[in-house]
Amino acid sequence: MGLQRTQPQEKSEFQLRPSEVIFTLIGLAVVVWNFVRFAEQPEFFSWWVLLLVPLGWLGADFVSGVVHWAGDTWGTEKTPVLGWRFVRPFRFHHAYPLDMLKTNFWTTNGDTVLAAMPMLLFPFFMPLDTTWGLALGVTVCIMGIGGMWTSQFHLWSHMKAPPRLVRWAQNCRLILTRPHHQKHHKVPFQANYCITNGWCNPILTAIGFFPAMEFVVSKLTGLKPRPETENDRIAAENEARENAAAAGAA
Ligand SMILES: [Zn+2]
Ligand SMILES: [Zn+2]
Repeated sequence: MGLQRTQPQEKSEFQLRPSEVIFTLIGLAVVVWNFVRFAEQPEFFSWWVLLLVPLGWLGADFVSGVVHWAGDTWGTEKTPVLGWRFVRPFRFHHAYPLDMLKTNFWTTNGDTVLAAMPMLLFPFFMPLDTTWGLALGVTVCIMGIGGMWTSQFHLWSHMKAPPRLVRWAQNCRLILTRPHHQKHHKVPFQANYCITNGWCNPILTAIGFFPAMEFVVSKLTGLKPRPETENDRIAAENEARENAAAAGAA
């Protein structure tokens, strides 16, 4: 029972699907199209537009935390429609965190780009010739850009030796760092849900955001958080094995 692999260990569990390439390319095209539309507005070149970048980056991190928390907390891999495609990758990642390093660029990012699409399309519904419309449109577009690459940032945070430019961005805390994310990978997997850059994690932890959300969702729906304790058991075993190996190697 619990999470079973469907592929041999040498290959990633998640193999390339053509839809992932299509989602990623469409996402990139929508980003370019957004900036072409923004650039048509003289106000886009105002100094205050720069302030929207960190704001959008913070917003992207918050969304990543809520989506990750939902995938980790509610339902099982057998939940209809969302279970196999949405819930399973999150739970699988706890049991086999380094599996993602064996996968390819499109599989890493395709579904996340699709999930970020509402944010990338949002500015098309904004009156960009108004100050508020432009500000909101640009902010949500930056959120979409942070969102669409969240799986990539997450993957890099699992690399012991990421590319030099990535390491620089991690050192500047522009994207998720390894020590910050490793805190999530300790049983019971309830720390640091935000995985774009981690900026929101200290704030959300301090105010008890996710435990409060779990209380509210449980009250409203009657659902029980984290019904799949089996996955935690597998992950705890993995962790014990890795610790034993590390102790043996030292
Ligand atoms: Zn998780
Ligand atoms: Zn991870």
